[in-house]
Amino acid sequence: MSATSPDSATTTTVRGTCPHDCPDTCALLTTVQNGVAIRVQGNPGHRHTDGALCTKVSRYTQRSYHPERILQPLRRVGPKGSGQFEAIGWEAALDTIAVRLKAIAAHDPQAIVPYSYCGTMGLVQGEGMAARFFNRLGASRLERTICASAGAEALTSTFGAKVGMKVEHFAESQLILIWGSNSISSNLHFWRLAQQAKRNGARLVCIDPRRSETAEKCHEHIALRPGTDAALALALMHQLITHGWLDHDYIARHTLGWDSLRERALLWTPQRAAEVCGVPVQQIVDLARAYGTTTPAAIRLNYGVQRARGGGNAVRAVACLPALVGAWRHRAGGVLLSSGGHFPLPSAALQRPDLLAGRMPRLLNMIAIGDDLQRETSPDFGPKIEALIVYNSNPVAVAPDSSQVVKGFAREDLFTVVLEHFHTDTADHADIILPATTQLEHWDIHTTYGHTDVMLNQPAIAPLGESRSNAAIFRALAERMGYDEPCFQDDDETLCRTAFGNRVDFETLLNQGFATVPVPEAPFANGNFPSPSGRCEFASSRLAARGMDPLPDHLPNHEAAGSSTRFPLAMISPPARNFMNSSFVNVKSLRDIEGEPRLEIHADDAAARGIETGQTVRVYNQRGEHRCKADVSNRARPGVVNGLGIWWRKLGLDGTNINQLTSQRVTDMGNGPVFYDCLVEVERS
Ligand code: SF4
Repeated sequence: MSATSPDSATTTTVRGTCPHDCPDTCALLTTVQNGVAIRVQGNPGHRHTDGALCTKVSRYTQRSYHPERILQPLRRVGPKGSGQFEAIGWEAALDTIAVRLKAIAAHDPQAIVPYSYCGTMGLVQGEGMAARFFNRLGASRLERTICASAGAEALTSTFGAKVGMKVEHFAESQLILIWGSNSISSNLHFWRLAQQAKRNGARLVCIDPRRSETAEKCHEHIALRPGTDAALALALMHQLITHGWLDHDYIARHTLGWDSLRERALLWTPQRAAEVCGVPVQQIVDLARAYGTTTPAAIRLNYGVQRARGGGNAVRAVACLPALVGAWRHRAGGVLLSSGGHFPLPSAALQRPDLLAGRMPRLLNMIAIGDDLQRETSPDFGPKIEALIVYNSNPVAVAPDSSQVVKGFAREDLFTVVLEHFHTDTADHADIILPATTQLEHWDIHTTYGHTDVMLNQPAIAPLGESRSNAAIFRALAERMGYDEPCFQDDDETLCRTAFGNRVDFETLLNQGFATVPVPEAPFANGNFPSPSGRCEFASSRLAARGMDPLPDHLPNHEAAGSSTRFPLAMISPPARNFMNSSFVNVKSLRDIEGEPRLEIHADDAAARGIETGQTVRVYNQRGEHRCKADVSNRARPGVVNGLGIWWRKLGLDGTNINQLTSQRVTDMGNGPVFYDCLVEVERS
């Protein structure tokens, strides 16, 4: 903490970190006057942040001091979902929870389920003290796959870990493929680097079903059908092979499975891929030429690509491209999906898996929470879910197939505890709500998936009202449960220090807010991939050992475009620019920019249905229906509609959101979600 004002007695600047699920993981500077945070800015001393925040987080004080912030523990007094609560003191709240959890744990602690994701990306307020608590309890384990697991498994099976080129070097690239990313909206600091490259003569190509804000600012937009990215990548390989745009030396020294990949890729002529992807043949041929003949060429891949049945294969196919042309030889060449694997792993001392004491509770996939909450006890499933403890997540809004999720959360016999800042759709279904602190009020430590700095967040202000950090809440719950292991006494700063032990210098974190992890400038210029073979594994023996295709291929969507006459339109649900998943939807100034829930629809599809901009439309499929406003727009390609998310259900037009339509099915790898693998029909409402 440093005094920065002439009036140093009352004004300070505190170093922090943006907690949101965004690859940029910005360094924050919070100005505090007389104990009140008055401004949150980007830290100009942090290279990746470069003094700039996105619109959402530059309004973070509006979120922390929001008049609707929950500031005391609450107990439900109305029907589930009605949002009727009364204040209850911490003592009574903790006692109520402990009594209920002890009773359930006495017959089977697996009937208790934690539900959390990246409402904060912090390691301490995420799965720090919470993991200790649930490990000690022996609760069900949660398979946290709702966002990035298909891509993570794809990278791991190709490179050996979630690694890639260093983001700062994109500024020196000559060709950048922005693949499955609306960077302006969700990776702003990368976009600044891409702009720098553009000013230096680079060509930017955006590959995305949607003509996003990013796509319209690139030199070229390839608007492929959702879930067809692998077909495009394989056709690019076909062209690289047939035109000889290959780095044979790099392939021979640093890859595995070239002959079989070559055979596979030669099946994917541009004509075949063009038909699958719904793009002109010439566009594929031209892209291949540009990729095969431009040095250095870089790919910024993002997670949109992996939200369809074949998402893992798609990421693998794209991840193979740089090795074929030897792009890794240059620091401004290669691919970046996630930099997460460059960090040291958090130590077991943080989460304490030893507290499981040899037990291995069942694993429940968070995507299937809608169905799982409605299951009875069975030998396959194990015990019926009796209690749910939700933190850092809003599953009633964000989990797929939400009519099933709502049915599950509405169960009167389900005991639900929600740690929250606001009365979200999920909090409305709680029995007990516990008020959680925001990032301005607690300690945390972060890694990131977009750059290579460990980040520290120091509290800028005292917790508001009676709110407590997640770690403090689980500490108090542990005490009520009678857990007397010393690890349940650790305070939040101690947990931050424990996360990496002496592998990251904590003094550096305290003094500058971040500590850079040493990563070579061109990490795979000479191979040295962290895979078992040390090579880029085109063919993966680890996938083959699991009975899977060792080579990347195109897998058609579960709900492939054109496969249904009842539901002829494919739908994707990318984030609205001013929301962060379901966070910030209740910040009025941001919601006002978004207006109302919208469905972008191409003029041809709209005309065929007599739909005009501004009309309320009914979007429906076999899972449900959702009403929103039509936006007839060239942001949508023919045959594909874009339902921008993720609105809170209760702030929508008819008490639903876009997840009323999405399915609980999973991806080919990593048991990930298939939010962008969804067929619908649209009509005037
Ligand atoms: S959401 Fe992303 S761009 Fe915005 S402040 Fe946070 S890390 Fe930076």
